[in-house]
Formats: sequence, C-alpha cells, structure tokens
Amino acid sequence: MILRIVVGLGLTVIAFAIAGRRVWWLKRLAFSGQSAPERVAYAKEHLAGEVKTQLAEVIGQRKLLKWSVPGGAHAATFWGFIVLLLTIIESYGNLFSRTFAIPGIGHWAFIGFIEDLFAVGVLAGIVVFTVIRLRDNPRKEGRRSRFFGSHTTAAWVVLALIFLVIASLLVYRGAQQNTGVFPYPDAWAFASWVIAQALHPLGYGVNSVLEVTFILLQLAVVLAFLVVVTYSKHLHIALAPLNIMFSRRPNALGPLEPMRSKGKVLDFEEADPDTDVFGIGKIEDLTWKGMLDLGTCTECGRCQSQCPAWATGKPLSPKQVILDMRDHAFAKAPYLLASSDEAREKLPEAVKAEAERPLVGTKAGNGVIDPDVLWSCTNCGACVEECPVDIEHIDHIDGMRRHQVLIESAFPAEAAVMLKNLENKANPWGMAEGRRADWITELDFEVPVVDGKIGAGVEYLFWVGCAGALDDRARKTTRAIAELLHTAGVTFAVLGPAEACTGDPARRLGNEFVFSMLAQRNVETLNDAGVKKIVASCPHCFNTIAREYPQLGGNYEVIHHTQLLARLVEEGKLKPAGKVEEKITYHDPCFLGRHNKVYTPPRELIDAVPGTTAKEMHRCKNRGFCCGAGGARMWLEERIGKRINTERVEEALALDPDTVSTACPYCMVMLGDAVDAKKASGEAKQTLEVIDVAQLLVRSVRSGSSRAEAVSTREEDPPDPPAAGLRPAR
Ligand code: SF4
Ligand code: SF4
Repeated sequence: MILRIVVGLGLTVIAFAIAGRRVWWLKRLAFSGQSAPERVAYAKEHLAGEVKTQLAEVIGQRKLLKWSVPGGAHAATFWGFIVLLLTIIESYGNLFSRTFAIPGIGHWAFIGFIEDLFAVGVLAGIVVFTVIRLRDNPRKEGRRSRFFGSHTTAAWVVLALIFLVIASLLVYRGAQQNTGVFPYPDAWAFASWVIAQALHPLGYGVNSVLEVTFILLQLAVVLAFLVVVTYSKHLHIALAPLNIMFSRRPNALGPLEPMRSKGKVLDFEEADPDTDVFGIGKIEDLTWKGMLDLGTCTECGRCQSQCPAWATGKPLSPKQVILDMRDHAFAKAPYLLASSDEAREKLPEAVKAEAERPLVGTKAGNGVIDPDVLWSCTNCGACVEECPVDIEHIDHIDGMRRHQVLIESAFPAEAAVMLKNLENKANPWGMAEGRRADWITELDFEVPVVDGKIGAGVEYLFWVGCAGALDDRARKTTRAIAELLHTAGVTFAVLGPAEACTGDPARRLGNEFVFSMLAQRNVETLNDAGVKKIVASCPHCFNTIAREYPQLGGNYEVIHHTQLLARLVEEGKLKPAGKVEEKITYHDPCFLGRHNKVYTPPRELIDAVPGTTAKEMHRCKNRGFCCGAGGARMWLEERIGKRINTERVEEALALDPDTVSTACPYCMVMLGDAVDAKKASGEAKQTLEVIDVAQLLVRSVRSGSSRAEAVSTREEDPPDPPAAGLRPAR
C-alpha cells in the first residue's frame, strides 16, 4: 500500500509541478500584453448574464452543438469528463484504502451507473472524432479539410490519452468487482461489469494486481493528460470559460471597438506614436484578452470552413491567423518575459530573430502574417459567428490593419484613392457633394432636405448613404424606398449634401483617423439637427450609425429599411397587391444578417409580394456567404483566387432564379457585376436581375401588375446620370 501511495502521490507532485510552471509562464505571457479594463468592468457589471452565458456556452455547449455530429461527440466527451471527476476522487481514495467510497454518495447505485454511462459516452465521442479526422484528413483533402493547418499529431495524442483514461478506468473497476471492493452494486456499473466478466477467469490474485496497477495507470494517464493540456491546443479546456467570460457582448460582431492604448480610448489629438499603441504592430500590442484568444483556439477549423476568402483560394484562414500569432507569441515569449536588456542579450539567436520579426510582413516575406492574408478579409464575421470559444478574429485583423495604415502607411495602393476621396469629398468616389441630392429630382414628389433642425413633424431621417445617393444601381433602391415611405404616409427628410460617408470603409480598412473625422462630422450634423430616428438603407451605414456612433456621442434609434418596410406592410400601410410571379432567392448581406441579426424582415417582404416563390441558397442566414465587398474589399482589387462574388452567384444560379434579391448596395454591386459576367458568358439567363427587396416591393405596391408590367414600370425610372469612375477597378 505504501508503494502505491508513494507512486500515486509522487506522480501527482511531478505533474502538478510541470503543469503549474507552465500555467505561471502562460499567465505571465498573457499579461505581457496591454491592459483591457473595459472587459473586466463589463464582466463585473453583468455577472448574472455571464453566469447564464457560461451555462449556455460552456455547460450547454450551445455553439458546438450547431454542428450536430462533432458537437454531439464533443458534448459527450466534455460532460463525460465532468462526471468522471468523481472517478478521479475514487482513484485517489483507493490509493489509501481499497474499499474507499465517496462520503455520502459513494455507494449509490445511480452514481455507479452514471459514471459508466458517461465513460461509454466518452468512448463513443472519441470514436466519432477518430472517424471525422480520418475522413476529413488534410493530407487527402488539402485546403478543403477544416483541419488543414492544425496540429493534427497533438490531436491524435490527446485522443489516445482520452482512450487510455477510459480504458484503464473500466479495467480497474472491473477488477474491483472481481475482488469484492467495488463500492457500487456491480450490475449498475454495466460497462465495468462486462469487463469484470472477461477478467473473472483470471482469479482473485491476478485481479488484485490488475486493480492496483490500473488505478495507478489511470492516475498516470490523467496526470499526463493534465501536462499535455497545458502544452497543447487542449489548453482550451481551461481557457475557454475565461475567454467566453471576457468576450465582447453580445459577440465580437457589429461594431469595431475604438482604438485603445494602455487601457484608454486613444485621443488622436494627444496620442504619441512613440509611446502609445496604435493598433496591433507587435504581438505585445495585443491586450491580455487578445493573448487569451490565441491560447484558447481549439484548432477545430470551423472558422476556416466558413471563411469566404479561404473558400475562394485566398491565403487567409482565420484559424491560421490565430495559430501563426500564437506560435509567434510562444517563440517570442522568452524575449518578452526576460527581466532585463542584459537577459535579452543572452537569449538564443533564434529567439532574438523571432523578436525582430515583424508581425505583418512585407511582400518580401519574413512577417508572421502575410499582407495578402491581412487584406483578404471581408470582415464578413463568419469566423466569429462559428467560433465555439468566442475568438475575436476581426478585432485582430482590423487591429493589425490599423497599425499598417496609421503607422506603416502600408496598404493596397488602390485604397489610397478611396481614402483621399473620403477626406476631400466625404464619399469614396470623390464625387461632388452636391450630387448627393440628384436622386430627389428624379421623383415626382417632394423630399425635404434638412436645413438646420429636422422638422417637428418629421418622423425619420432617411440616411441615404454614399452608394444610395451616387451609385446607379443603389439609386434605384433609394428611389424605391422613398416612394414606399411616401406611399405609406411616413414623414421623412434627408440630409442631402450635408450627409457624409459614415466612415465605415475607412474604419474597416484601418484608417481610424479618417473614420473619426467623418463620424464626428456626421454626429455633429445629426445632433445639431435634433435627429432621433434614422432609417438607413445600407447595412454598413446602419451598423456604423446604430452601433459605432454611440462611441462618439451619437445615440439614435436606427432601423434598416427592410425592418421599417416589413412593419408598414404588417400594419397595412403598404399593400403589395400586384403579382410578381418569380422565383426569388435572397442573399443575406453580412452587415445586416450576421453582424446585426436582421434575417426575417427581408424574407417577410418577399413573401408578402403575391406570386413570388422564395428559394434559399444552401449558405444562408447566419451561415450566409459574403458577396466580397465588406471590410473595405469593395475598394480593393481581388487578384488572388476565385472572385467571391462569382462563387456566390454560382450558388444562386444553381437554383435557377428569376431574381436575386438583397438589401445592401454593396451586395447589389458585387452580385450585379458577377451576374453581368455570367450573362455575357451565357451561363445566366438574360432576364436575371439583381434587385433590392425594396424594388421588388415597390413594383408590387405600385402596379399590382404582372412581371412585364412591373419591368416596364421600372424602365420608366429616369435614366441615371453618367457615373464615370464610380466603380472601383476590378
Ligand atoms: S471575417 Fe470573414 S473573410 Fe475575414 S477572416 Fe473571418 S470569415 Fe474570413
Ligand atoms: S478560432 Fe475558433 S473556430 Fe477557428 S479554429 Fe480556433 S477555436 Fe476553432
């Protein structure tokens, strides 16, 4: 007995010493990052909500279970390990007494049953994981595998360790049944009972040896697992609850956070590039929450599997961004944690070289993150939406973009024109500000332009947006919305030439300075005008005004046009009576859907139009596939891989629709361009249209007519003025 106590406790001390040292090192590394007092303050203020989140996300495995098979296997393994903590207590108790039982519950038949049930559940879980990993093998599947780029050897080691934990557990429990020291009624622990039947012929003596040996083996495997966890991706077992607790709420979609330095929002007038942190320029510019993200990644590849950039052959994988940053943080850690410059000097050359490595490389290479990776992101949010441990990929990517733009002046050349236009003309195309009101002259009713204060009887400020005012396709949507609001008797006004770009393209590109300039101007205009309620047609404007302008003191009730129109239809103020007998598929704009969870109103509008047949694309709603324009990609060339808009339109064409509808001017441009290309190549019918749902609705409300009539009604729209140079180069 003494020997097994010495071995058992000796192994425990060694394992805890190794794991503890590693945990201390990890903690020091995480806190070598910047402070994030806002995350702690939020978690403290919303403690009740945090408990609920932990119950849903960690205990309930909510996000994981969205992928039913791997999610079910993970839940079985996770819940199994919680229940099996009881068996670890029993193993330690058995070191001191063969007849040990947990005080109070240690002889309950139900506990014996539950322990075996979950042991079998864990075994089933690892069988499923094994099959998934064999079928989705990155060596065979290449980029199509979600495990491409993951550390697969470590994953196999962990699966083997989990198997050994359960196998050794069942063997020692079976042997205990044969030696008569098992604390529960034998048959209730059904899996152990089966093993006991197999071991029974070996006799009491052999079973006694097996009992002790496998108790020690089980403890050894559990302790090895503990050590492996602290050195592998399985760190997520400990870090996921923390990462989820300190994540942005409701999630890291929607607004970007303001730039912070040393825990405070950066004031551009006082900031000093030499002492302040401008975005993420080196790994230690991450906050401790950012560092926590790196350590928490499970390498599951869910984010990668949903990323439109990855799916179309670009070098960006959100998983790989996190893993590359993590590998770099670990390799640079001795440098970051060294106590003095002298200590740094004595570090191995490889560590010093890693410390010198730029976080974002140049075209010549050497960087941790390749510039083509950084600039491929559309900010679509699919990665954030999918990540089961709430990693905030967009914050990392846009944080690095901020540093590249503001400090290094390193960004795709074609974006410079857009930024200059924003600074000089307050719209990305550099068109004269007076042209913003041109569309009003094309209507046969008056639209008031705010001059000073918004009128007392005016309910909404209609935020038209740059595209809505200046882009040919989007202007048709703008006119349709105005006509529908007018028809429904909704009072509204516009800012006209006083409206400036919300700053979204600049912010998503990383130019926080230009964003602040435009946003402050707009907030001042809106506040001076006494605006309370805004209807926006562009999801990017909608997201920026509703969720980012509060960071600058702009607080308004903002609604997207599809939400308002759906309400007007429901209230009977708009009557879509005209039949439109068409097969329609709806494309979810990322900044309306995933970022702001507006999925239903656009679909309600399509359904409200008589005669329509709605067909969903395979990738829709929260799994919708980006058009390729977000994250300022609208203004950048797409030189690598397949075009994202082509991929999306091909998915739509598979349904043979008459119309592709959407609710975003960016999506209209991207999908429209791709459809035009398909028409030119004969792959799409010439009658296929890309329209906003507001255009569909106005046809029905206006005419009560057939498609032919509706089209001819649309053709009565006045011609758009020439818009040379309106489109970015593609
Ligand atoms: S935001 Fe979209 S494009 Fe960017 S990394 Fe995530 S999934 Fe990929
Ligand atoms: S970032 Fe999240 S979704 Fe992507 S691999 Fe890591 S844990 Fe999985």
